[in-house]
Amino acid sequence: MQELKISSPELGDSASRFLKKDTHKMLAGGEWFDAGSGESFDTLDPATGTVIGKLQRGGEADVDKAVVAARAAFESGPWPKMTPMERSQILWKIADVLEANIDELAELETMDQGKALYVGRWAEIPGAVNQFRYFSGLATKIEGTTIPTSINYQPEGKEVFAYTRKEPIGVVGAIVPWNSPLVLTAMKLAPALAAGCTVILKPAENTSLTAVRLVELMEEAGLPDGVINLVTGFGHEAGAALAEHKGVDKIAFTGSTRTGRAILNAAQGNLKRVTLELGGKSPVIIMPDADLEAAIGGAANAIFFNGGQVCIAGSRLYCHRSMVDKVVEGISAIGQQIKLGHGMDAETQMGPLVSKEHGSRVAEYIEDGKKAGASVVCGGETAGPNGSFVTPTVLTDVTPDMRIVREEVFGPVLVVTPFDDADEAIAAANDSDYALAAGVWTEGLSNGLRFANRLKAGTVWINGHAMYDAALPIGGMKQSGWGRDSGQAALENYLDLKTVCAII
Ligand code: NAD
Repeated sequence: MQELKISSPELGDSASRFLKKDTHKMLAGGEWFDAGSGESFDTLDPATGTVIGKLQRGGEADVDKAVVAARAAFESGPWPKMTPMERSQILWKIADVLEANIDELAELETMDQGKALYVGRWAEIPGAVNQFRYFSGLATKIEGTTIPTSINYQPEGKEVFAYTRKEPIGVVGAIVPWNSPLVLTAMKLAPALAAGCTVILKPAENTSLTAVRLVELMEEAGLPDGVINLVTGFGHEAGAALAEHKGVDKIAFTGSTRTGRAILNAAQGNLKRVTLELGGKSPVIIMPDADLEAAIGGAANAIFFNGGQVCIAGSRLYCHRSMVDKVVEGISAIGQQIKLGHGMDAETQMGPLVSKEHGSRVAEYIEDGKKAGASVVCGGETAGPNGSFVTPTVLTDVTPDMRIVREEVFGPVLVVTPFDDADEAIAAANDSDYALAAGVWTEGLSNGLRFANRLKAGTVWINGHAMYDAALPIGGMKQSGWGRDSGQAALENYLDLKTVCAII
């Protein structure tokens, strides 16, 4: 294993200033406030375990305060009275303000989450900006339809006029995970605000810093008080209180399938709407006619990007038997060359995992795979002062029943299985409780498109992986979730349909 040197991070002025603040407060109705309990908790730099900030430990009463503020803003604030164009302009302004602070946001994300700086600076924070730009455009395109009916009992000389209206669903609770905090938050907030909803945001407990900064910047962009509210804290406390709250009309959730089930149970009380973006165990298939160099690089990136802490990570590789040795060798060589280090170090290609605990969880999965008979071709080690680094890992000799093949590891761990023909590859790829995304590498476009039809997944990539765009719906089939983020489909999550039928 390469020697792991953790250099002290050097931050820009604005990120340093933000990290010097005492305890970061929560927001309700334009007022920054402390948790009613008076309790706070630490947030850590995952590379070193050093405390980099204190957050309010929000509870039931704090959630209630934020919900009351969001309800007031939805029922009687300026937001619902604004024209779509005015809302659109504010969303565009939010994008501008985020873009102007992109370096600070990327640095805060790296300090809090661990990711290599380039991931936030060039992929995720620009991705968040694009969400606000895209949904700024859609805010002015929320349209119903006029519907000709066959109703024929209206009085003589009268007509029936029927149409639909799309109305904002109301008060939305947005609960998000820690792997790509800011962009996943933007994927909820931008469509919710475009639809005219008001929001209570509950970020993940270990990565809340960019959420605090985001809502500050949203205020700066002119979003009226109460339209965005923030409660920090733990899932079983603040998250559960938000999911249960009867004043919330909808929960937009991204996170694990296990928590998704808990959210569904909690939502029963007032039958609030729920959308769920959940876990994955996404297959990547390499066909014998693939551009081998591109496929090897693409498959390596599909699992190692952001340390594999990506819901659509290509964590199961199915490769044609004729080339599997070459592919395993190629991906392992890439894995071994990946430079691990503090995310703020310019040379770092892969930072730590989000926490010591998560590092241990990933290591346990690798050990479990080894005990079940898997062979480690590369990686499989934990490292760093906080035990939060896991080296890029490739496992072969796996069978479909192993936990390492069936369960989401959420780390840089790839399992490789050879196949002999396309039917076998598709059956193996579809043999999962998850169905979030899939990839196929082939130079035959017809073949690729046939695979796309037969693979059970919310998104299929051909000759690529993780190609995100604010315009492209993303979400899961099977236990990977309900509903879609991004694209026009996401806007529908935040709208209710009303039918109006009149005799005129
Ligand atoms: P998690 O489910 O543990 O936590 C997600 C959020 O839910 C956090 O804010 C947490 O505080 C909150 N939470 C936890 N328990 C809760 C409860 N009982 N009630 C309400 N809220 C609660 O997930 P995680 O470990 O933070 O994130 C990793 C998971 O997210 C992975 O499974 C990954 O695949 C998934 N994910 C999915 C997508 C997607 O688009 N499908 C995107 C990114 C991540």
